[in-house]
Amino acid sequence: MDFKYPPEAEEFRKEIRAWLEVNAPKHKHPPYDTITVANDAEWEERRAWYRKLHSGGWIGIAWPREYGGRDADVMQAVVFHEELARFNAHLPYIGAGVALAGPTLIQWGTEEQKKRFIPKILSGEETWCQGYSEPNAGSDLTSLRTMAIEEGDYFVVNGSKIWTSQAHRADWMFLLCRTDPKQPGSRGLSYILVDMKTPGITTRPMVEINGQISFNQVFFENVRVPKENLVGRKNDGWRVATTTLAFERNFGGRQYPNLVRDLARMAQQIQINGRPAWESSAVRQQIAAFACEAEAIKYNAFRGITRRLKRQPPGPESSILKLAGTELNLRIQMFAMELLGPYAQLDRGEAFAVDGGKWLERAITARGGTIAGGSNQIQHNIIGERVLKLPR
Ligand SMILES: Cc1cc2nc3c(=O)[nH]c(=O)nc-3n(C[C@H](O)[C@H](O)[C@H](O)COP(=O)(O)OP(=O)(O)OC[C@H]3O[C@@H](n4cnc5c(N)ncnc54)[C@H](O)[C@@H]3O)c2cc1C
Repeated sequence: MDFKYPPEAEEFRKEIRAWLEVNAPKHKHPPYDTITVANDAEWEERRAWYRKLHSGGWIGIAWPREYGGRDADVMQAVVFHEELARFNAHLPYIGAGVALAGPTLIQWGTEEQKKRFIPKILSGEETWCQGYSEPNAGSDLTSLRTMAIEEGDYFVVNGSKIWTSQAHRADWMFLLCRTDPKQPGSRGLSYILVDMKTPGITTRPMVEINGQISFNQVFFENVRVPKENLVGRKNDGWRVATTTLAFERNFGGRQYPNLVRDLARMAQQIQINGRPAWESSAVRQQIAAFACEAEAIKYNAFRGITRRLKRQPPGPESSILKLAGTELNLRIQMFAMELLGPYAQLDRGEAFAVDGGKWLERAITARGGTIAGGSNQIQHNIIGERVLKLPR
């Protein structure tokens, strides 16, 4: 197998690298691509970097030109993310706009919806959250009960969503709700776009163990949403929702070798019993084992890229990547906590915190990765049924 990238992709690399050398944030900061955001100051830093990328034409690069993208092909998109990671200047996560809402609207939106929403997603002027999960509907999403009943030119929404990342900062939500209470399961669901400032919406932040706020519970009480905000057909929203999920489960997978290198660097820097941790063969063996797994995951990610180059639909590799990657990340973070010993408890900004306290934050958020976007047990089910053809 030839792992060399095509010359056009390497040309593209030069272009983005030259731009990043001038424009990438120079100060030390935690990666901007995490779903958790430390505070308002970090949120604003992320938005500033997002706007800068947009000013250079680097947001939504794989989108069609007519919607403000660059028509970048798969390999150019791969190179783009590699270069951003090299500069620790990842595409910032500022909600679910560019990754989820935008591509879904390009596929399903009306021309008016595309004109209204897409430019502001690209510019970062409007941010988005995802209203899928409910207190009694997570893995079993199609049992959701938030209702949207037609009344004149509006849908009137009542119900509640939970775990809604960054809802407290979002301008818009794409909401999956039931428009026909008589139809069970995935039938009778619709996908509508809700302005978060509409009267009747209450957003209650859920404070996490480290004091950060990433999630919210969102309550809807007689919230009136114009009918023109329906995406796709009424009662056929599940098809739109699964398009969004396909984008959501398209997990990277090539970042893990970097993470292992970061762990190795930390092990060289800290001491155990007065000697560098790296001098312990047990430590080195564990890190080498992580490195092998990280490489295996990286090559599995290349299988996904190959499928996309051949214009085949996403295969089971996205479930394998999600499962293997998030579990490896969790074990790496737990091992980092062991290595750091008492220093593991020091949070961001505290004196003596190793690497600015980023390891504690990573450890706290690592478990979330195994749940978000479809829990790992669900990924086990998918792999068992669709890859290994095991009985249900
Ligand atoms: C970091 C993070 C960000 C999130 N952001 C959002 C967001 O922005 N918007 C949004 O809508 N949601 C969001 N979620 C919610 C997420 O989608 C759900 O937590 C997830 O789908 C699981 O649903 P649940 O929490 O209701 O757990 P449940 O579905 O109640 O599952 C509980 C346990 O049972 C297991 N289980 C359930 N069904 C099966 C089965 N059939 N077979 C085997 N095991 C099973 C699960 O794996 C889990 O261990 C986020 C979650 C996290 C962690």
